Order: sequence, then structure tokens, then C-alpha cells
Amino acid sequence: MDYDTYGSGAVELAIDLANAELEAPDGLSDFLSAHHEWFTSGTPLALSDRDAAALTRTSRLVRAVAVAGSQDEVIARLNELLGLARPRPYATDHDGELHLHYARADASVLEQVTTTVAMGLSQVVIQHGWQRLGVCSAEGCDDVYVDTSRNASRRYCSNTCASRSTVAAYRARRKA
Ligand SMILES: [Zn+2]
Ligand SMILES: [Zn+2]
Repeated sequence: MDYDTYGSGAVELAIDLANAELEAPDGLSDFLSAHHEWFTSGTPLALSDRDAAALTRTSRLVRAVAVAGSQDEVIARLNELLGLARPRPYATDHDGELHLHYARADASVLEQVTTTVAMGLSQVVIQHGWQRLGVCSAEGCDDVYVDTSRNASRRYCSNTCASRSTVAAYRARRKA
């Protein structure tokens, strides 16, 4: 599947945010430092309690878009997420390649994350259909994914879950 590189990167950031362990004590700061390359260099990564709660809400909304079962539900959740975004796009070649950034360069890290994931997710949904987002079919895993396969055949969040499920299915067949 062929989609623009920044859009596809931004949707991966959205998926990572939805799957991050934000309830863990350092969950939010771990997520932010692992993805620091997304933010204007020098952006402070420390969050106030209020911004931490807002980022958790963004994460839940991304998940809600991914697990939604109908186009109407996707539209409602996506618009809720877009309502939190503060887009002010600009072109840049800071990494050697000309591309768009969606949030103001001097925005807070909360605003940069929320705006980037909202814009990235909505571009993919609008260009490729909401069915491209899903939740892992492996037992005991509820991570979400974006399906970039040519024939939209993805069912698992990762290769680990895919092979774990294949092994489990094989064992179940042998028992039967
Ligand atoms: Zn960039
Ligand atoms: Zn999984």
C-alpha cells in the first residue's frame, strides 16, 4: 500500500501511543522519550498533571478509532480526536527530506503529539478506509494496528502475536 511517508509515520506514532503502557509510573515519559525524534528539538518532555491526563485521553481516543466497528463510530471518534488537535502545518527538510509537520514548531509536547497523531490517523482513514485499523486477534493481546498490507489481510499487532497464534492453532488441531 502506497501512502505518503510522513502520514504513514504519523499513524505509526498514533498506534504506538494507543498501545503504550501509560498507566505505568513512567509510562508517559517513556513513550515521549522513545519518540523524541518526532518533536522539535529542545521541546521539554516533562508533562504537568493536566497535560499527562490530556495525553492519556488522546491515547484512548486513538484506540477508540482503531477498535470502532462502523464508519459512523469512526467519524465520531475521529472528530473528537481532531477537536483536540491544533494544526499549523509547515514544510521542513530538517532531516534532509522535504516533508510536512502538522503542529507549530514551538508547541508543547502535548500539542505536538496530539496534533501529529490526529492528522496522521485521519489521513490514513480517509485515504485508505477505516477498516485498515484493527485490534490484534491473538489471545490475551488487545494492541491495535494499522494494516499496510496490499490485500488488507493483517490480523495481528506484530509478528510475535502472529507466530504465537499459529503455534496455538497448530497445537489445537493436533489435540483435536
Ligand atoms: Zn520531521
Ligand atoms: Zn498482539
